[in-house]
Amino acid sequence: MSGSDGMDCNELVELVTDYLDDALTDGQRQAFEAHLAECDGCENYVNQMRKTVHLTGSLSVDDIEPDDPQQRFRLDVARRLSVFLRGVNERGPQLERDDLDDAAQLLGRRPAGWRECDAALESLVASAGPDRDADFIRFFHRRVSRWQSLLAVGMHGRRYSVQPLR
Ligand SMILES: [Zn+2]
Repeated sequence: MSGSDGMDCNELVELVTDYLDDALTDGQRQAFEAHLAECDGCENYVNQMRKTVHLTGSLSVDDIEPDDPQQRFRLDVARRLSVFLRGVNERGPQLERDDLDDAAQLLGRRPAGWRECDAALESLVASAGPDRDADFIRFFHRRVSRWQSLLAVGMHGRRYSVQPLR
């Protein structure tokens, strides 16, 4: 269902992880919840997602070790994903605030969220002269460095550490 300026089911599905992470703008959250109030299908979907996030964040499945290699592979992916999601859930909001504080130095104003931040950075990078390159490299280096601890769980023990800049 969709009103004239309401959110439809597809848009809701796109935003569900941001909703559960409490990462929507006020306007998005109001549209999201207005749609939930009138759409049973999406309400069920969001409840299922909430349970899944809760379970993957709190269940210990470390003792399960299937014999079938394909099942082992799938379980490994699920475990790594659950650790990653828990990290995003617990530390993502602070990392994003740090990113936005950092970006404010480059942009001259603090963006409200990461989408606005990336759009502003993209146009700044596209329009700035080469004299700003060093600033951009340092900024993106700091940003990757902040997030790499969350991504490490997906790297199967390999180390792709970001080298310090001189
Ligand atoms: Zn719906």
